[in-house]
Amino acid sequence: METEAIAVSEVKERLAYLQGLANGYKLRDESREGQILVELLGVLDEMATELSRVEQAQSGLEAYVESLDSDLNDLEEDFYGADEEEVIELTCPNCGLDVEVGDDDWDEEGRLDLTCPDCGEPLPALEAEEGRQNDAR
Ligand SMILES: [Zn+2]
Repeated sequence: METEAIAVSEVKERLAYLQGLANGYKLRDESREGQILVELLGVLDEMATELSRVEQAQSGLEAYVESLDSDLNDLEEDFYGADEEEVIELTCPNCGLDVEVGDDDWDEEGRLDLTCPDCGEPLPALEAEEGRQNDAR
């Protein structure tokens, strides 16, 4: 016996086979039990049809939820991104002042575009990636 979930389409196939057998044996006319079995097969078939409908609706919903989730992530990045500035701290090699460096202080090449506010010396031009890994927020 397989423990994995059986595909609805497979259930439908097996039911169709059973219904074929029931028809071949003229089960309905055979006995009261036969009548009930044929009715039960009909009920099972309707349930399988409904299940396949639910399955399709669910996979549509899953795709929709995933797209919503992805949109929400984008929105969160846009919304919180502006406030959540990554700040690191550098020490001026000239005067020893600790200078906070935010996202805006990097130029497009990822180099530091900032001079020491105390002595006016340019701060060491670290690569942005290196600098941002030492997150001192
Ligand atoms: Zn300085």
